[in-house]
Amino acid sequence: MATLFKGFERIEEARERLAGRSFMVGLFAGRPDFSLLLMPEESPEEKAAWEEFRPRLETFLTTQVDPDEIERAAKIPDSVLKGLFALGAFGMKIPRQYGGLGFSYTNYGRALMLMASWSNALALTVAVPQSIGIAMPILMFGNEEQRRTYLPLVAREAVSAFALTEPITGSDAANIATEAILDATGTTFVVNGEKLWCTNGPIARYVTLIARVPAESTQQNGQTRWVPVPTGKGADHYVHTAFILDMRTPGVHVRQHCQFEGCRGIENAHMTFTDVHIPRENIIGEVGRGLKYALTILNVGRAVSIPAICLGMAKQAWQPTLDRANQRLTFQKPLGTRQTQRMRLGRMASNLFAMEALALTGVAKWRINIPMMSGSRRPWPSLLREDYSSS
Ligand SMILES: Cc1cc2nc3c(=O)[nH]c(=O)nc-3n(C[C@H](O)[C@H](O)[C@H](O)COP(=O)(O)OP(=O)(O)OC[C@H]3O[C@@H](n4cnc5c(N)ncnc54)[C@H](O)[C@@H]3O)c2cc1C
Repeated sequence: MATLFKGFERIEEARERLAGRSFMVGLFAGRPDFSLLLMPEESPEEKAAWEEFRPRLETFLTTQVDPDEIERAAKIPDSVLKGLFALGAFGMKIPRQYGGLGFSYTNYGRALMLMASWSNALALTVAVPQSIGIAMPILMFGNEEQRRTYLPLVAREAVSAFALTEPITGSDAANIATEAILDATGTTFVVNGEKLWCTNGPIARYVTLIARVPAESTQQNGQTRWVPVPTGKGADHYVHTAFILDMRTPGVHVRQHCQFEGCRGIENAHMTFTDVHIPRENIIGEVGRGLKYALTILNVGRAVSIPAICLGMAKQAWQPTLDRANQRLTFQKPLGTRQTQRMRLGRMASNLFAMEALALTGVAKWRINIPMMSGSRRPWPSLLREDYSSS
């Protein structure tokens, strides 16, 4: 029980602290600031970047990607992954100087939404490396050498992933058991343990690995710093640390490919580590800060990528619903002409509108642009139209 409470405290300590103003905090305090719901004006460069990328992505999706086949085979073909790399889709959030597209969060969200409206497995595969794979941790907490070495690779050719969860550790992430122990030479960590549900694990070249490191504490400028203890002897604590793991290192084994309902086609691994050697320079940021880094980058995924993907998936459901409502006749009339069914369709359309308005911008300047005609399946860039006059 004591260990469980300790884990809880560690999670609380590691939680990201609020730096600016927040709408939700204001709402709880009874003083909501509605101006925080409005997006800042988008720069012409950002708009132009999206207008240039969107048709290329749409053409790629409709001509090169068969979402039903991905669903049937539970596999994204290699040619599709290569095509996504060539488009730059794996490097949308990576700055241009490191080989990425340097997109804003808005454009990144738009692209994920568009992709997920065609194939959610594709959007997840692309989002994971850019939120929790090695790109974000290195950008936010890594050093310049790591950025120059790894970011061009993950932007253009190498898939990456994130390994925190273990068979006995999920929400209680502080209780991980995978250990990374500094060897006697002080240059290499030796990792033993296992990780579960690692998205992209089976196809990843690099993984953000969170492991616990035996360390002793020192005080520097009034702050606690952690120094890894060689061979683990005499450690004060085991502290969470983030590493860049090259999946080709001996001792890394993908034991099982995991499957999930609702996202057939994503790759996901249960993997084990037996005496895996990771060079000391592959530590991301500071020893002992790994849990904080993990929770921070998870926030990026949970706050931007997942909502955009959910919105795309909701759009996927719209066209077949409308088709069915228009084509299915009961008592000589289409379902869609019945009042109760129209109310359902209306509710669905307004939910889609509200989701997109919330995900992309303040509602005020937009009006709805949901196609109400039956038609073939297609990727959907936006339900919202800025132009009031032409509708
Ligand atoms: C599709 C998918 C992809 C994933 N990809 C990755 C990945 O790439 N890398 C990775 O490391 N992990 C990944 N995971 C694992 C994911 O992060 C864990 O599932 C998550 O941390 C929750 O852990 P758990 O499943 O063990 O749930 P549990 O911790 O067992 O929780 C079960 C339920 O109990 C609730 N609960 C837990 N504790 C409390 C409490 N104290 N009070 C009240 N309720 C509580 C939880 O909210 C949850 O609803 C993935 C999971 C899925 C489903």
